[in-house]
Amino acid sequence: MTAPALAPRDLAPAPGPLPGAPRMLTGDRPTGRLHLGHYAGSLANRIRLHHHYESFFVIADLHMLTTKNSREEIAEIGRNAAEMVLDSLAAGLDPEHSVFYLQSGVPEIAELSLLLSSLVTVPRLQRIPSLKEMEQHAGQREMPFALLGYPVLQAADILGAQAAVVPVGKDNAPHVEVAREIARRFNRRYGEVFTVPALVPADVPVLPGTDGKAKMSKSLGNAIYLSDPPGEVAAKVRRMYTDPARTGPGVPGTVEGNPVFAYHDAFNDRPAEVAELKERYRAGKVGDAEVKERLTAALNRFLDPIRERRATLAADHGLVEELIVTGTTRTRREARRTLADMRAAMGLTAALAGFRRAARARAGTPEDVRDRG
Ligand code: ATP
Ligand code: MG
Repeated sequence: MTAPALAPRDLAPAPGPLPGAPRMLTGDRPTGRLHLGHYAGSLANRIRLHHHYESFFVIADLHMLTTKNSREEIAEIGRNAAEMVLDSLAAGLDPEHSVFYLQSGVPEIAELSLLLSSLVTVPRLQRIPSLKEMEQHAGQREMPFALLGYPVLQAADILGAQAAVVPVGKDNAPHVEVAREIARRFNRRYGEVFTVPALVPADVPVLPGTDGKAKMSKSLGNAIYLSDPPGEVAAKVRRMYTDPARTGPGVPGTVEGNPVFAYHDAFNDRPAEVAELKERYRAGKVGDAEVKERLTAALNRFLDPIRERRATLAADHGLVEELIVTGTTRTRREARRTLADMRAAMGLTAALAGFRRAARARAGTPEDVRDRG
C-alpha cells in the first residue's frame, strides 16, 4: 500500500452537498462492527464523497438473509446495525448529510427487485465469481435462490433511490455492472425511468489481516475494529504476523506483502517515520518490536478521535436509532415514487385500473369498489 495515510484528522463538520446534488448509494450487511479493512476499502471513500452527493447508506439485512438467516443471526441485526452506523458517524460521516436506512423496512425494495429480475438471465448471474465465493464462504453446497439474486436486490436499492454513483469494493463491482445493465435494459424497453448508476471503484488494495491472510475480515478473526480500545489494538499488533523468514532483528527483512508495513502505509500519518523504518527493516537494523510499537502508536493516533467521537455519539441515547427510523421513512418515500414510475412505464397499472373502472360502472357505487390496497 503506497497511498498516504488515510486518516482524516479533522472531524469537524464540512459543508454538505449542494441542493439537487446527484445521489450516492452504498451500504453493508449488518453482520458486525466495522474494522480497519472497511475503513480503507470503503469508509474513507464514502466520507470523501458524501460531501458532494446526497448520500444513502443501506443497512442490507435482506442481503444478509441470502447467506445468514438463522433466528440467532436475525436477532443480531438491530445491534449490528446500530454499531455500524455509530462506527460510520464516528469515522466522519455527517449525520446531517447521510440517509441510513434498514432495507427490510422498505418493502418496496422487494417489489422493485422482483420486477427487475425479469431483465436479467440466470447464466448472467451464475457467471459472477463473488456469488460463488459467498456460497462457499457461507458453507452452502448449492446456490440459494436468493443468493443468485443478490445483485438484482442490490440493483433494487441503487435504482430505487435513483443513485448516480455507487462506491464499492472490487468484489462488489460486478454487481453494480448488473445494475447498470438492468437500468439500461429497462429504459430501452419501457422508457427512461432510471438513472444509470456509475461505479466508483475503491482505488486502494485490500487490507490484509493481522494474521497475514490476504484480507482483514470479521469471520477470519483477524480484524482490528474501529471501536477497539487502545490496549486491545496494542495486543493485536503485538501478535501480528510479519516476515516469517526473518529470525531476528539483525536479519534483513521484506517490507512488501508484510502486513505491519501495509498498515503503516495506510494509517501512519508520519511518512518520514515509515520510510525510515522500512529502510532499517530491509537492512536488518530494527526489531519487529519497535516497528510494531510505532504501528500501535500510529493506529491509536488514527483511532483516538474516532473513539472520542463514538463515545459522544453513543452517549446521545436514541440518536442512531432516530437516524435509522427517519432514513428508512425517507427512503421508503423515494422507493415508492420510483416504483410508481416503473409500474406506469411498464403499463403494469393499466389492467387493474381497467378492472376498477368496469367494476365501478357496473356497481354504480364508487365507494364500494374503491381501491382498498
Ligand atoms: P465477513 O467476514 O462477514 O465477510 P468482512 O469483515 O469481510 O465480513 P464485509 O461485510 O464482507 O466484511 O465487507 C464489506 C465491504 O467492506 C467489502 O465489500 C469491501 O468493500 C470492504 N472491505 C471489507 N474488508 C476489507 C479489507 N480487508 N480491505 C479492503 N476493503 C474491505
Ligand atoms: Mg466479507
